[in-house]
Amino acid sequence: MAEKKKKLKYEKRKSCPKCGSGARLAEHANRRTCGKCGYTEMK
Ligand SMILES: [Zn+2]
Repeated sequence: MAEKKKKLKYEKRKSCPKCGSGARLAEHANRRTCGKCGYTEMK
């Protein structure tokens, strides 16, 4: 199996309130989005 895990700054990312701690929100310039459910949180 290919290990693609690189240590990025995932630690500081918030978790999705809908999906729980397993889904972290992606950081954008002025918002955060969940890749699973599409939840968007404006900063
Ligand atoms: Zn989600």
